[in-house]
Amino acid sequence: MTLFDSPAFEAHESVQAFYDEKSGLKAIIAVHSTARGPGAGGCRMWNYASAQEALDDALRLSRAMSYKNAVADLELGGGKSVIIGDSRTQKTPELFEAFGRAVEAVGGRYWTAEDVGVSPGDLMHARKTTRYVAGLEGHAAASGDPSPVTAEGVFRGLKLAAGKAYGGRGVDGMTVAIQGVGHVGAYLADKLHAAGARLVIADVNQQALREVSDRTGAKIVSPDEIFDVEAEVFAPCALGGAISTSTLSRLKGKVIAGGANNQLASPEIGQILFEQGVVYAPDYVINGGGIINVAGEIRALKRNEAFDPAWVAGKLDRLIETLEMVLDRSAAEHRPTHAIAAEIARDRIAEGRSRAETRAAA
Ligand code: NAD
Repeated sequence: MTLFDSPAFEAHESVQAFYDEKSGLKAIIAVHSTARGPGAGGCRMWNYASAQEALDDALRLSRAMSYKNAVADLELGGGKSVIIGDSRTQKTPELFEAFGRAVEAVGGRYWTAEDVGVSPGDLMHARKTTRYVAGLEGHAAASGDPSPVTAEGVFRGLKLAAGKAYGGRGVDGMTVAIQGVGHVGAYLADKLHAAGARLVIADVNQQALREVSDRTGAKIVSPDEIFDVEAEVFAPCALGGAISTSTLSRLKGKVIAGGANNQLASPEIGQILFEQGVVYAPDYVINGGGIINVAGEIRALKRNEAFDPAWVAGKLDRLIETLEMVLDRSAAEHRPTHAIAAEIARDRIAEGRSRAETRAAA
């Protein structure tokens, strides 16, 4: 199979491989679409078993960023980069300087940021050789930790979904089961507690569990028991793939709304959720607050201005409106929410493309 026939390729605008002999950099930068603006998405450093595996990951993640950025109504397209290597043993300043040169060579069609295996400290080295980096610390445009904004979007989206599923009821008095109380899950727990929800939490990190439970009175259960909790809402805030056919059959509530990426173990689960009457807030819609925060930094850097929290708040309002549109259309058109969200993303990308073509023709 050639690159162009690969299912992951899906009309990418460009895919570039970069090699730097001196630092040992092996990187791939995939730009799925610049129809709405420069492709934006983090850089992942991972010890891929093969270049093919790295390529597939870059393509899959970059396409997902196109959808996520479009659904958040950002003037950004989708892109992603991967560095092949062990992030525990193979990171050097030279490696990230070489990576920065690769990003610069893409000529502003791609903005990078953190992802798995890459820290703000690493990006400081990349910043020496490219200006197209977000997620740095200590400058006026810096957006800081995106988790509070992500959690705020998840909190508002969760309330919205719960209201739709339970006839307008607020979360006051509802039970929410939170899987994973790391950055996003812990902020979410605080907000739900303040809104009067009862919490049941699970994590593999005992200290995180204790801290959240002490603050919120949350009941602690084991990572496996979280699926059996008598809760109106299940909030996946740990790793991907939480919702599979086996875990779904154990959930008691009518709502799935949480911050984790890639919550559905396979795309078919979205259809099954819909058929079972579960209101599922698509992950890349409800957790879009994080990328909105990063977009705020890119916007500030481009304009040479300070980071503007009010702009971020406006985009977050718009995100929640989009989520409401997704939930309402799903109910009215009898189609699963993940299918509606993907359609909205594709429509917005197509609109961006026709706007860009009109501008180019003028
Ligand atoms: P994090 O690493 O701070 O938190 C994840 C938590 O899940 C950790 O406390 C970890 O111990 C726990 N965990 C791992 N395996 C578990 C299991 N089997 N059962 C229960 N808990 C388990 O990460 P985060 O920044 O809070 O992100 C959480 C999720 O949200 C991830 O999927 C991430 O990709 C996604 N996300 C985060 C942001 C953001 O702004 N941080 C934005 C968008 C999406």
